[in-house]
Amino acid sequence: MEKNQVCKECGKGFSGRSDKLFCSRECKNRYNNRKNSLESKARSEAIKALDRNHEILSSLLAAGTGSASIEALARVGFTPDAVSAQRKGRCGHTECHCYDIVYCRTDVKIFDIHK
Ligand SMILES: [Zn+2]
Repeated sequence: MEKNQVCKECGKGFSGRSDKLFCSRECKNRYNNRKNSLESKARSEAIKALDRNHEILSSLLAAGTGSASIEALARVGFTPDAVSAQRKGRCGHTECHCYDIVYCRTDVKIFDIHK
């Protein structure tokens, strides 16, 4: 059924099927392109944070450091929320994975860093 609609991209009124969101193909493309570029930006920022974390964790491992405070880590650019996986560990703490590196996390520190 045709009805009066408002384009989701340009805000212009148009008439069309009730499931139509855009006044034109151009508006639809513009909207989707912007949405895709925002999504890929969010994805690349998440990957960047994980890569930075991995770099920091690798250097801790190389130095034989098994634990570090979240505060000290944050100063060197560690993002506590950036993990490739996490679950409740056997020890009762949150076990986090940063690719191949595994560590336990509390609110104030990470420890038991290992591969
Ligand atoms: Zn439009």
